[in-house]
Amino acid sequence: MNEPLLQIRDLVRDYGSTRALDEVTLDITEGTVVGLIGRNGAGKTTLIRHLLGLLRAQSGSVRVFGCDPARRPEQVLDKIGYVSEERDLPGWMTLHELLGYFSAFYPRWDEALATRLCTDFDLDLRQKVGTLSRGQHVRASLVVALAPRPPLLILDEPSSGLDPVVRRDVLEAVLTNVANDGRTVVFSSHLLDEVERISSRLLMIDRGQIRLDENAIDALDRFVLLEVSTTGAGAPRLPEILRWLPLDGPSASPLEQVIFCELANAASVESLAPRLAEQSVTLHQQHQPSLDEVFVHLCEGTRVVADTAP
Ligand code: ATP
Repeated sequence: MNEPLLQIRDLVRDYGSTRALDEVTLDITEGTVVGLIGRNGAGKTTLIRHLLGLLRAQSGSVRVFGCDPARRPEQVLDKIGYVSEERDLPGWMTLHELLGYFSAFYPRWDEALATRLCTDFDLDLRQKVGTLSRGQHVRASLVVALAPRPPLLILDEPSSGLDPVVRRDVLEAVLTNVANDGRTVVFSSHLLDEVERISSRLLMIDRGQIRLDENAIDALDRFVLLEVSTTGAGAPRLPEILRWLPLDGPSASPLEQVIFCELANAASVESLAPRLAEQSVTLHQQHQPSLDEVFVHLCEGTRVVADTAP
């Protein structure tokens, strides 16, 4: 089997007393589109900065195309396209000059692709980079990242603060030009619907640790939300229950609860119901949580059951 394109082993990053990455171990194989999600401050950008060699591993290791990107950037950086809101582009250049400037660095620069993307994105090549709006700036960054046809594309929250049309353009360009072409993408975003749409693998980081690593988003089907009522005798204790909280709504009684469960080994809710009944819990409804709901419950869930149980 081929060596993974990205290999991270026991990566730790501390900023003073803040542990931003906590023993992260990860392999990413070629052709995967990885959606990286996590709350603010979870560690996504820190992870991406290690992949780009902007941070050196304090402990553990990072390999991109088999090399340490912090020690051998020349072996790695020309194979990576990078888009971030923070990416600085020289403001005094026109877009035409910018594309000429970047094309000189990349032997594989695809002029026809750059021209087509500028047309698709409605970019005026005579405009100065410093005068571009936020959305135009992201589109220009994407042209610069895609035109060298990099085997690896890294996008750090490319869509934050952009209108839906620009977001759609960004996603379409990534899907058409990179993902469908069998190349690898690492894509961090707070917009879970777009992550769900584009990713073939989902990574959720929580407080510096990988909390969820799914090879197919369909695998999220193993999570279920149950509406139940209790006799008030206490919270049920079952290994499948990750979170337990009061049912929302003006007419909900304090004895009505929602429980968030993870069913192991394709177990069904039907197998859970009798065990809940043994603990005086009656099951009323069940539904498949959205990715948003899984995200919220997993991020909140680690400190829950005991705290919020009736
Ligand atoms: P967001 O979604 O808000 O961009 P993130 O998941 O990208 O967040 P990081 O930027 O990786 O999170 O930050 C992880 C943790 O490390 C946070 O607690 C953050 O405050 C801290 N941190 C990041 N960069 C630095 C720095 N240069 N100095 C000190 N602390 C930092």
